[in-house]
Amino acid sequence: MSRVRELDPINLTITAEAGCVLARVQDAAAEAGRLLALSLASEGTAQIGGVLSTNAGGNATVRYGNAREQVLGLEVVLPDGRIWNGLRALRKDNAGYDLKHLFIGAEGTLGIITAAVLKLYPAPRESAVAMAAVRDARAALDLLASLQTENAEVVTSFEYLPRIGIEYVIRHAPGTRDPFDRVHGHYVLIELTSAREHAGLRVSLEKVLGAAVEDGRVLDAVFAESAAQAKALWRLREEMSDAQKPEGGSIKNDVSVPVSRVAEFIDTATARIRDELPGVRVVAFGHVGDGNIHFNLSQPVGADKDDFLSRWDHFTGIVNEIVVGLGGSFSAEHGIGRLKRATLEHFRGEVELGLMRRIKRAMDPDDLMNPGRVL
Ligand SMILES: Cc1cc2nc3c(=O)[nH]c(=O)nc-3n(C[C@H](O)[C@H](O)[C@H](O)COP(=O)(O)OP(=O)(O)OC[C@H]3O[C@@H](n4cnc5c(N)ncnc54)[C@H](O)[C@@H]3O)c2cc1C
Repeated sequence: MSRVRELDPINLTITAEAGCVLARVQDAAAEAGRLLALSLASEGTAQIGGVLSTNAGGNATVRYGNAREQVLGLEVVLPDGRIWNGLRALRKDNAGYDLKHLFIGAEGTLGIITAAVLKLYPAPRESAVAMAAVRDARAALDLLASLQTENAEVVTSFEYLPRIGIEYVIRHAPGTRDPFDRVHGHYVLIELTSAREHAGLRVSLEKVLGAAVEDGRVLDAVFAESAAQAKALWRLREEMSDAQKPEGGSIKNDVSVPVSRVAEFIDTATARIRDELPGVRVVAFGHVGDGNIHFNLSQPVGADKDDFLSRWDHFTGIVNEIVVGLGGSFSAEHGIGRLKRATLEHFRGEVELGLMRRIKRAMDPDDLMNPGRVL
């Protein structure tokens, strides 16, 4: 199941089978002068079936939304062996319940996706990438608002990187370097793209960053002058997950809050966790443009790794309470699987859980589909 079945450049859709690797589908779209807007660090291995079943997000969610927003139609093998052919390539289709959304993000618990119709967009013809050192996380959010006021349609990525994350990357990812002459505490990586030629993206970015330098939100900025420089700046972000491994035990929290509350979340949770365990190294980074923070905790230097990791539930419990108190979610883009089933039970009320269980029972009464996951 690794065929691209159809590409319609006028309808702006591509129909791909579930076993297609995401990067290959992106390539097929690019060859036709189109863009598949789904992009994640794992795109070289992740397959369409997995990406849709996890409702993956990624670096362009701030502009295009999650996987769910890219899907127009699905073909699914149901638990009773029948095939649901919902491979419709329509932008408007209000004929009853929109069943595809049951399978997207269901982690394979309701059926097996075999193919999907995905949206395409005109391919970008201009881009501008910059990294800015910002005063703090609040200044980062103000900067995002300024960029969106200037030209919301072109803000494709807006990622937050803390100093500690940059240090980890420089230490552990060969060939990376700090693009600034001075050390700063907080950074954002910004990418603007446009399907128009001569869209003036660099000028827009300089204008917004210039104003932010004037009022102290931005302390310094570097612009990518070539594709190679853009790639080098992006590497600082993409290596951030792997660079945490050599630093010892790491407790992961993949959470989201409303974008306007990201700074409040980072400040509150950092203070609370540091009170609990002095010396813990908070590595809060990620897709703040869509409110998704990877709030990871590295063990204190020299601490016992197993002892630190044995407190996983305790620390994630503290973080999740803060997240939910701010109107957020304890699972932004990494799903539930087996690990977070109890957390789902704890935070989602009986009404919501009851509905989920009834849907599961109605569609998969014998619990054949990925048993033990999600519910
Ligand atoms: C380095 C790295 C970076 C990542 N970055 C991001 C990111 O930025 N944003 C993000 O959201 N996620 C990210 N992820 C996680 C990402 O969601 C998954 O890697 C990817 O989407 C899953 O695809 P896969 O083919 O590997 O699926 P698998 O891991 O094989 O499967 C994922 C789940 O989907 C189910 N499944 C798989 N195929 C089907 C099918 N055909 N029908 C029904 N169910 C199916 C599986 O049973 C499983 O529950 C990242 C992962 C890595 C390793």
